[in-house]
Amino acid sequence: EEHSSITFYQTLTYNEMTTPLEEIPKVRAELLESFLSGKTRPISYRKHQLTQLGYLVKDNAERFREALASDVGRPYLETDFLELNSILSEVDLALKNVDKWARPDYPPFSPEWFLMRPKIRKDPKGVILIISPFNFPLMLSLCPLTSAIAAGNTAVIKPSELSPATTALMAELIPKYMDPDVVRVIVGAVPETTKLLELPWDHILYTGSGRVARIILSAAAKHLTPVTTELGGKNPVFVDKSADLKLTARRLLWGRFTAAGQICVSPEYVLVTKETEGPLIKELLETYKQFYNDDPEKSDSFARIVSVPHANRIKRLIDETKGTIIAGGKTDTENRYIAPTIVRDVKADDVLMADEIFGPVLSIMTVDTMDEAIAYVNRHDNPLALYLFAQDEEVKNRVFDNTRSGACVLNEVLLHFGAKNLPAGGIGPSGSGVTKGKWNFDEFTHFRSSLESRGWIDTIFLGKRFPPYTDAKRNF
Ligand code: NAD
Repeated sequence: EEHSSITFYQTLTYNEMTTPLEEIPKVRAELLESFLSGKTRPISYRKHQLTQLGYLVKDNAERFREALASDVGRPYLETDFLELNSILSEVDLALKNVDKWARPDYPPFSPEWFLMRPKIRKDPKGVILIISPFNFPLMLSLCPLTSAIAAGNTAVIKPSELSPATTALMAELIPKYMDPDVVRVIVGAVPETTKLLELPWDHILYTGSGRVARIILSAAAKHLTPVTTELGGKNPVFVDKSADLKLTARRLLWGRFTAAGQICVSPEYVLVTKETEGPLIKELLETYKQFYNDDPEKSDSFARIVSVPHANRIKRLIDETKGTIIAGGKTDTENRYIAPTIVRDVKADDVLMADEIFGPVLSIMTVDTMDEAIAYVNRHDNPLALYLFAQDEEVKNRVFDNTRSGACVLNEVLLHFGAKNLPAGGIGPSGSGVTKGKWNFDEFTHFRSSLESRGWIDTIFLGKRFPPYTDAKRNF
């Protein structure tokens, strides 16, 4: 029976799986009902669902690799490293820690208050809506789902219409592995999301662009729904004269060209002084050759752009830049191919410096001093990630202490996003609130203050609070 249902789902295309609009309010009502039934409260139940989620990913790893290859031309190694492993490690972390995370906290002992047993309960919020983008369609749906379940909530996932194969696969597998009373997938694009946003949720986690985040936040305001936003921006890379330039080039190009630059924490542009620019470029070009053997189009280690319109958008930027292209530049937008491209002499008013590129183009901008670089970053939206390559400790402190960003990373790129127990989140225009591990558990948890007061307490001291308020009762 199980097998016949698999065949049945596989014959459905993404379009056939689109959730009918009239279903959407019912989905929310059903999830609210099962939340209120108390079904998700026992930790044993949450652990069972988390285990099922782990198996969902493990059992179907090959199909997910194929789906991501079809959606974004992603090499299998990148899918394993950046999506599958991240989810399994989040599930594992939640399974090992959910007992501890869900335990109440107690405020520090206070002689005036301890008799009332002050306590902070970790109550689930209710029904969580998770809206995710195309670029990590699996990880950015299932990692937050892990937290939602661990925290005892029910949840809806709305993955991106731009990653149809992965979205359809999640929609097929989730009802097979997980309790449909507790987790549901909505398949659809703007109309379905708009319908979802008309409803009151207990929390929304939105991962995507700042443009759409404004729509989400306005809709949420109508219901006073709390929202976590995980957004993007232009992530700067400071390369100091003290940097190990070989290492810088290797890590920087890997970070910029992984997933063809479609990563929210992708290093976007380099800020470097004139004296260091030349030696850095030499190392970048050597590394480029090592990675792609001068023909990235034939490489198995380079992904594609999610859609033809996005590829055209990036091509236009490459065509219009006034900087000098020193590597790549070739495009085949029908096949969603944009070569990994390096552009030097990029000026602040260049098209490449206007918006987040979300593609494999690395811009190099020269500055006179590191302080000028700091000032440049501070004049723009706070980025999600800020990178620095340097050996000199003084520079590290100067750059990190005088800038703002979601995360700041020395001599490394991207990896902070996967690091266990580090919060992932932006500041201001790059997002608000945090995800990953206990941080995301807490985001989906209501810290519910609680007191339990017994009658005899009034006979010892707190009796003075009751009228009539005589002078004798005053004790200031
Ligand atoms: P997007 O904002 O276009 O889409 C994200 C989600 O919003 C999708 O599920 C989509 O269906 C929905 N959506 C799109 N238009 C909508 C509308 N008008 N009304 C309601 N819902 C709508 O983002 P994207 O292009 O898929 O992803 C790229 C962006 O996501 C980049 O800016 C990137 O930096 C950011 N991002 C951030 C993180 C992070 O963790 N901070 C991670 C990945 C991506």
